[in-house]
Amino acid sequence: PVRVRFCPSPTGNPHVGLVRTALFNWAFARHHRGTLVFRIEDTDAARDSEESYRQLLDSMRWLGIDWDEGPETGGPYAPYRQSQRMDLYADVATRLREAGHAYECFCSTAELDERRDAARAAGRPSGYDGHCRDLDAGQVAAYRAEGREPIIRFRMPDHPITFTDLVRGELTFTPDNVPDYGIVRANGAPLYTLVNPVDDALMGITHVLRGEDLLSSTPRQIALYDALAQVGVGTGGTPHFGHLPYVMGEGNKKLSKRDPQASLNLYRERGFLPEGLLNYLSLLGWSIAEDRDIFSMREMVDAFDIADVNANPARFDLKKCEHVNAEHLRAMDVKVFTEACAPWLRAPYAPWQPDSFDQAAFDAVAPHAQTRLTVLSDITDNVDFLFLDEPVRDDASWQKAMKDPAAATGLLTTARANLAAAEWTAEALKAAVLAAGETHGLKLGKAQAPVRVAVTGRTVGLPLFESLEVLGRERTLARLDAALA
Ligand code: GLU
Repeated sequence: PVRVRFCPSPTGNPHVGLVRTALFNWAFARHHRGTLVFRIEDTDAARDSEESYRQLLDSMRWLGIDWDEGPETGGPYAPYRQSQRMDLYADVATRLREAGHAYECFCSTAELDERRDAARAAGRPSGYDGHCRDLDAGQVAAYRAEGREPIIRFRMPDHPITFTDLVRGELTFTPDNVPDYGIVRANGAPLYTLVNPVDDALMGITHVLRGEDLLSSTPRQIALYDALAQVGVGTGGTPHFGHLPYVMGEGNKKLSKRDPQASLNLYRERGFLPEGLLNYLSLLGWSIAEDRDIFSMREMVDAFDIADVNANPARFDLKKCEHVNAEHLRAMDVKVFTEACAPWLRAPYAPWQPDSFDQAAFDAVAPHAQTRLTVLSDITDNVDFLFLDEPVRDDASWQKAMKDPAAATGLLTTARANLAAAEWTAEALKAAVLAAGETHGLKLGKAQAPVRVAVTGRTVGLPLFESLEVLGRERTLARLDAALA
């Protein structure tokens, strides 16, 4: 049975690269009716935070990426927070050392740097040179007497390591490229290089799907896996590895965690739908079919095959992301859409007083908004004219509509008179403005622009006549009067 894991470190805010990794693991697990393990890699007390941990869980829940084993859910391999598994790692490190798979390394950083620079200058491989690999008891005692504190280093095998990456095919790493590496700090703190494969082994992970940035750690982890099997840690098998392509941001540079476009919270605050965002993120390295980019997560799960993931870097395109989200908004049931808007219709997003909000008025315009929004937060600006005493006046819009003040005033005066006499239905209101336009030699589009600005404060928005119908005669006429005053 398939067992995959999503194992972020709780540092900083969740970002889209992280979500893409979670999503692909989730889709793979669900497609194969396997298990998604959610593990928190919080062994770096200096960088990890409880706030970030909480956000990770909250983000996964918001996205609908559910896990089968992990924090708060529990499972047969609990605990799933590495900070609660420290004794276990210490025990494994001891076993590895006793079996000769790891050794104490006393080299200081300065010594390592010096030898690395010399190796570089001589054109030799510049990784760890094996200095402490085979120290005898006397040398160890001498280093200790000097007050040196050793790190634990893993002894890499002397043969090349080959594996078949699920995305990239067969890859080979020669020993020169994969030197012995540290697994425990001098202060006893176990490193990612140890705890991640140890837990993968103990938790019976069958497939590791993660970002390409971790490709270089894979040969190390495969070697460590072999050693773990020999000291009786884990279930024995080595997982399959698949490395997901880089995500490129602006200027064809790797999208960085610190890039504002990368912050998941930003998408939540702007009112992306989880399904819309996930749909877009699934396109970063995968596609459901040629010429098709809108689909549900159910459809993704049905179709997902890791062999279809493309090894080439994927480009993060915010415009496309917004487009995909907009398509998901359009496809919602109108009632669900109306309810989804609710957070943006109150503080801190809404600029109107809470008791000015009128649900019936909102419900009447919501279907028009649904076909126009890109993200849910757009709703506020689209409907504020209904709930504010005076419309927000966007000066640029105003000046544009009033470029020719005499013409605009003439048009507004006629329109006001026609509207005052009209029956208050969208159709009749349209006829009234159309007639005012004719009087002044203007087509409907040109005639309605100043009316729209006078009443809603903006040059673009919901269909004007439906808006006026909902706003009502009294308020519409008062706003026209104010504009003419
Ligand atoms: N905690 C690691 C990270 O967030 C996990 C990497 C992996 O998937 O192996 O980068």
